[in-house]
Parts: sequence; C-alpha cells; structure tokens
Amino acid sequence: MPLIDLHCHTTGSDGTFTPSEAVSLAKELKLAALAITDHDTVEAYAEAKSAGDSLGLEIVPGIEFGTKYLGSVHILGFYIDTGNAELKEELDYIVFDRDNRNIQVIKKMQADGINCSYSEMKQRFGKVIGRPHIAQILVEAGLAVSTRDAFDRFVGKGMKYYLPRETMSVERAISLIKNAGGTAVLAHPFEFKGNVDELISHCISLGIDGIECRHSSHNAEQMEYLEQLCDKAGLLKTGGSDFHGSVKPDIALGSGKGQVSVPYSWLEEIKESRLRQGL
Ligand code: AMP
Ligand code: FE
Ligand code: FE
Ligand code: ZN
Repeated sequence: MPLIDLHCHTTGSDGTFTPSEAVSLAKELKLAALAITDHDTVEAYAEAKSAGDSLGLEIVPGIEFGTKYLGSVHILGFYIDTGNAELKEELDYIVFDRDNRNIQVIKKMQADGINCSYSEMKQRFGKVIGRPHIAQILVEAGLAVSTRDAFDRFVGKGMKYYLPRETMSVERAISLIKNAGGTAVLAHPFEFKGNVDELISHCISLGIDGIECRHSSHNAEQMEYLEQLCDKAGLLKTGGSDFHGSVKPDIALGSGKGQVSVPYSWLEEIKESRLRQGL
C-alpha cells in the first residue's frame, strides 16, 4: 500500500522548505499524496499543486489552526476551498493580530540590545510570522542554541519574549473549515496538556470529522488507541509527520521520528466520506 503524509509545513508558515521543495522531497520518498497544512495560511497550496501536477504527485489543500480549549489545541482542515471569502477574512485578521503581537515582542528584544527588525523578518519569512521565526532570530543572535532552546528559555509561555496572541475556539475553527467545504480533524491529540478523552468528546460534540492518529509526537500505543477510538466512533483517521524542515531536524517527511506511516487508504476513506456528504 502506498504511503502518504497529511501534515506538512512550508515557507508559507514556519517550515524551511518551499512548497516546491516539499513536493519534490515527497516525490523522492515515493509518497503517493501530500497535504500542505501551514499554520493560518493557504498561500502555499497553489505552488505545491503546480509542482505536484508536474511531478505527478497528489496534493491535498490543508490548513492548521491554533485554537484554545482548556489549553492549546490544533485543528487541521483538509480540502478547504482556498478562495473562500469568510476564510480569507479570518486569515487576514490572524495576520494582523500576529503582526501586532510580534511587533511588541521585537520591541522588547531591541530594548535588550538584540539586533532585529520586524520589516526584515516579514521580507525574509513572509506573511505569517510566529514564535518559531522569533526563535530563529534568537538562535542567529547567539542567544539560543536551537529552536527548542529558544522556546524553553525565551519564547515559550511565561518566558521573557512571550506574548500571547488571540486564539479562536475549537468551535470557530471547525465552523470556518466546514463553511469552506473542508473536512475538520483534531490534530495530534496527545500533545494536549489535559484530559485527551475529554478533548475528543468536546470535538465530537462540535462535529469534528476525524482525528490525526499517527503523528511524530505519538508513540505506538497512543496511535493504536486513537485508531481504535476512530473505528468505534465512526471518525476518519488521518496522519502525518508535521514536517517543518531544518527547524525541526528530528522530524522526517513521511515518517516523522520513524514511527509514522500513513496508508493511502486513509485518504481514500476521507474522499469517500466527502462524496457521501455531497462535498
Ligand atoms: P505562535 O502561534 O506564533 O504563538 O507559535 C506557536 C507555534 O510555535 C506552534 O504552532 C508550534 O509550531 C511552535 N512551537 C510551540 N512550542 C514549541 C517548542 N517547544 N519548540 C518548537 N516549536 C514550538
Ligand atoms: Fe509549526
Ligand atoms: Fe500542530
Ligand atoms: Zn503542524
């Protein structure tokens, strides 16, 4: 059975591979499909789709939203209409809110003598800038040795260069995805710092379509648990590496930390379910 990867970041958000580079790598790895799931943007899809068309690789349009429910929860959307007006308006607002937060953080860093400029960051990293980019600036300034170290000591919650940004509810993310014709999936539930079963029940009550069972942060037992839960509850199963390129060097496209393998049949089930729903 051919393998796929339904969770991948590009330079559209905080990944280091351009959409074309990510698609080429997926092709080299002989994956049969790749979903582009950047944080808060769908802008990488067009380039990925044309690279996929020329290399003969199926590309799934996707997105990943950061949401809040008794802690941080990520929601994935697949097959969203990337031109949907409500979605576009929300994504523009998220960029506006991120910019406001990031500018305040950069001011704090500048006040501490760190040489950085937000306009340079926008030019270099693009529209959607987040803490991973700020972490990268701290690494380059020699204040941290890695992205992880920068999160642990500077930009993680409660640290010196942490400022919150507005985050939507799980309900809002699911409705945005569904209103844009997409399939909504709870991302990597075992990264949730709370009761996972309670989170899953909450998402089911809000109409979630599926759960990301296989992911770099899940161990074999957790993956098995989620797969059985999905089969029992009639939810779709998805999986992906959460590839980010060189900023998360321990996560490989297609295989994560070695434990991730997602069969093409899972994507077929998503497509069949969408057909049954008239999507
Ligand atoms: P932001 O949305 O800009 O506040 O940044 C949140 C993003 O930072 C998440 O979506 C993750 O991709 C990333 N992130 C959060 N914690 C860590 C960590 N400890 N190490 C590396 N990346 C992280
Ligand atoms: Fe990320
Ligand atoms: Fe995530
Ligand atoms: Zn992700």
